[in-house]
Amino acid sequence: IMDIVAIVGRPNVGKSTLFNRLIGEKVSIVDDQSGVTRDRQYGQSDWNGKEFAVVDTGGFVRNSDDVFEAAIRDQVEIAIDEATVIIFMVDVATGLTDLDEQVARMLRKAKKPVILAVNKVDNHARQLEANEFWSLGFEETFFLSSVTGSGTGDLLDAVVEHV
Ligand code: GDP
Ligand code: MG
Repeated sequence: IMDIVAIVGRPNVGKSTLFNRLIGEKVSIVDDQSGVTRDRQYGQSDWNGKEFAVVDTGGFVRNSDDVFEAAIRDQVEIAIDEATVIIFMVDVATGLTDLDEQVARMLRKAKKPVILAVNKVDNHARQLEANEFWSLGFEETFFLSSVTGSGTGDLLDAVVEHV
């Protein structure tokens, strides 16, 4: 049984962009059930000689904020159950939001390793802004740009320490 690395976070932070970068050419297993399972995509990846499964969560954008929040909470709960390590992604372009704080609270209670990935750190100005996310209190915090790939290597080094 392969270790599962789950990517969670609110919509549009860049989870799927990172997921696609991680799985590359490898075929992803799409569970075409319903509800929360439909909102999850599984793929396979490897780094530093270690293989692991990756889960991308929250593929479907909804209209209502309430449904949004409930769906994200569901995804985080499943991630806490099934994942070996959780990548919690936030977005420096939007900055720290209430929803980020809510997810952080859930994850801090979990007895699973959580790595904070501050995404969209595309330039130096954003590197400075990204420091606000240290306030979420995750010891393992990484700054990256999923579109350029910058910082993703350091993130993965930390991820595979847990698999
Ligand atoms: P998800 O909803 O969390 O899965 O987010 P997506 O991966 O779909 O990305 C949402 C948007 O953010 C897309 O337009 C991406 O191209 C963009 N995006 C993702 N990563 C980055 C990044 O590192 N920098 C910038 N500038 N945009 C990004
Ligand atoms: Mg997505």
